Amino acid sequence: MRLADIVIDIPTKSLDGTYTYVLPADVPGHEPHVGSAVVVPFGPRRVIGFIVGVREADATDADKKLKGVIEVVSKSFFDELGAECARFLAERYVAPLSVCVRLFTPPGAVPKVVQGALGAWRIESPSVGEVDDRWVTLGDIPFQPKSNAVKQIAVMDTLRRGDIKISELNSTYGNVSAAVAALEKKGALRVERRRRVRTGMPAAMPASESVYRVDELPLDLTCGQEQALSAIHAAYDAACGEVVLVDGVTGSGKTEVYLQAIARALAEGKSAIVLVPEISLTPQTVARFRGRFGDAIAVLHSRMSAGERYDQWDLIRAGEARVVIGARSALFAPLQNLGLIIIDEEHETSYKQESAPRYVARDVAEWMMRRRGGALVLGSATPSIEALYQAHTRPSWHVVSMPERANGRPLPQVEVIDMADEFRSGAREMFSARLRRALIGELEAGHKAVLLLNQRGFARFLLCRDCGFVPKCTSCSTTLTYHDRGNRLICHHCGYSVAAPPVCPSCASPYLKKFGVGTQRVEDELRALLAAELGEDASVPVIRMDADTTAAKGAHRRLLEQFASEARAVLLGTQMIAKGLDFDDVTLVGVINADTQLHMPDFRAAERTFDLIEQVAGRAGRGELPGRVMVQTYEADSVAIRAAALYDRDMFLRSELPKRRVLKYPPYVRMANVLTWGKDEHAVRACATLLREQICARVRESDLIDWEVLPASPCVFERIRNDFRWHVIVKCQHDGDVSAVLHDIYRGAKPAKGVNVAIDVDPIDLL
Ligand code: ADP
Ligand code: ZN
Ligand code: ZN
Repeated sequence: MRLADIVIDIPTKSLDGTYTYVLPADVPGHEPHVGSAVVVPFGPRRVIGFIVGVREADATDADKKLKGVIEVVSKSFFDELGAECARFLAERYVAPLSVCVRLFTPPGAVPKVVQGALGAWRIESPSVGEVDDRWVTLGDIPFQPKSNAVKQIAVMDTLRRGDIKISELNSTYGNVSAAVAALEKKGALRVERRRRVRTGMPAAMPASESVYRVDELPLDLTCGQEQALSAIHAAYDAACGEVVLVDGVTGSGKTEVYLQAIARALAEGKSAIVLVPEISLTPQTVARFRGRFGDAIAVLHSRMSAGERYDQWDLIRAGEARVVIGARSALFAPLQNLGLIIIDEEHETSYKQESAPRYVARDVAEWMMRRRGGALVLGSATPSIEALYQAHTRPSWHVVSMPERANGRPLPQVEVIDMADEFRSGAREMFSARLRRALIGELEAGHKAVLLLNQRGFARFLLCRDCGFVPKCTSCSTTLTYHDRGNRLICHHCGYSVAAPPVCPSCASPYLKKFGVGTQRVEDELRALLAAELGEDASVPVIRMDADTTAAKGAHRRLLEQFASEARAVLLGTQMIAKGLDFDDVTLVGVINADTQLHMPDFRAAERTFDLIEQVAGRAGRGELPGRVMVQTYEADSVAIRAAALYDRDMFLRSELPKRRVLKYPPYVRMANVLTWGKDEHAVRACATLLREQICARVRESDLIDWEVLPASPCVFERIRNDFRWHVIVKCQHDGDVSAVLHDIYRGAKPAKGVNVAIDVDPIDLL
């Protein structure tokens, strides 16, 4: 008798773990495999489950009263290693197994079981699946339509040039269904259904027609690229999950290294995954891969429709696409023989999932490559401090640096503009005189500029426009966060709270500004400035890219293509423009507010500020024309900004690492953030407090040394969408097993009604 271990598709921790069912030999539906969705009885209900293991019954199963699988309702979504990966995720990130299994299924592709009239259970087909087109093709019987059968003649003429979709015939000649039916009856043509593959991305364009440069043939590698590639080859040959960190400046040609590493994997029958941050998954990026590998490429990202994702997923599963480019979740694509995972812009925060399971793609990818016997490549111009730390402390990690641009051009000069100075000398605008002059100069010369508005610092804070003073907590030196409620400043480190002052406590200036500007306002100011300086009819296109202007499908791509095709233009945007854009003719990059992030009560604030400046600077001067970068800031003295302007990472690390060590932050410790939220603040607080007591008790009982469990406290974002938020921060040694401790507590916890609990292991921030 065969048994199946099944994960019930209900995302609650009370049903966590697997349940055993009998797998009858004649079970209806699809072939039963690991990864298949099934319908099983569950108490009085029928539910969907996923097979995660199949085995023969043994003596221990003899006296269990097992129920049987009713029907297998899908093909397999994942294999044994996928099932194992789901278990790994559930344990490491303290999440229900069912949610982890769901990472492997394309959205909308799993059938549902619903209860209908009189309590009958019925299986509802998935909302997405294959779509067909109706095609016509020439039949075997030669046929000449009558001379007055105009549409028949048109159809036959078209067909002689090749097969065509009926929908295309309809749009060219008007409704052709009668003509097609008549011709089909005569045997002059055949109508067939053919699978249509929805791609969600433009098809491969010949390089000459593309607005982007695409190198279809491998390039001769630079010396740095050679070294990086041979390090990757060595890790690939070792086939045991080694990691190569490619630390290459912007424009050093990391993509070419990836392309050649993938080419080798493909030649050896392996497949590869390339993760890129969602915002740099642009048509330009995809075109570079498609230009080299053509139809072997599949693309997966969240801006695609469910149908598009399903088709891409199916191509991968069928083995037709062997290279997957995608955002974080592409890690779970059903590739066979996976030999290589590449994570570009490894430092990006979008590689952390912010809902259960809250996984870190880098760590999951490393686990996968170890299990599958492949290699992991991490690339960045600004590797995360965690990655650098591992590269220097773990023998299975290697680092190669590419300090020069592939075209031999220098990195652009970065000028820091002290906005407090500007303000004192009378300037009241968002744009300093120097940035304004530079911008107009470049536009007059027919060049392009990119302006970045740093919006990630949206926790608001007060800033004195006269002296640059920012209120800080006297005991923690973290920036105080401004709260509308009660007009107060609060320290999110220690809980200190004080009424917001009416004038600057340092210089008594009344110009205290609540920081947090929108792109729309900057755009208005920019247009006014261009009109004033260049004349009303100069018409320099200003292209704004932010969450609003890129919400519509394809908008992102249209805006970038517009920017590419203009002779001179300004691209104004949020973080989403800082990455991966490769335009030859951008000669000026301006950062309007480099420091907003610095004031975030976030232990990674300085690191992110450093990264952002280096990344955005990398958008300038990529071609023949030299580039320059101007960084406006009220914190001209901060190490993160000064070091970034000098491209001096060591200088930054020398200041940052000791702080991390003393304050006990990664990479020196591991952390978990235990979050509770709900409408009732008392209940939320009580729940957080109770969880903390349980964790403390557990730490004491198990004699865990060097563990630190901070008091339950309100989160920085203490209220989101009417939910109150509290948290408990847990720290342990950098190799401590924070997951195991929290997993027990999480499963045992019975939170009050209306209070949610989530555990964020290796959190990206503590907000
Ligand atoms: P990165 O990802 O490191 O910022 P890219 O991969 O975008 O850099 O490469 C920057 C530019 O240099 C691209 O236009 C690319 O075509 C070009 N390039 C890369 N490698 C070479 C090479 N070996 N020879 C000539 N040009 C190269
Ligand atoms: Zn002041
Ligand atoms: Zn404080």
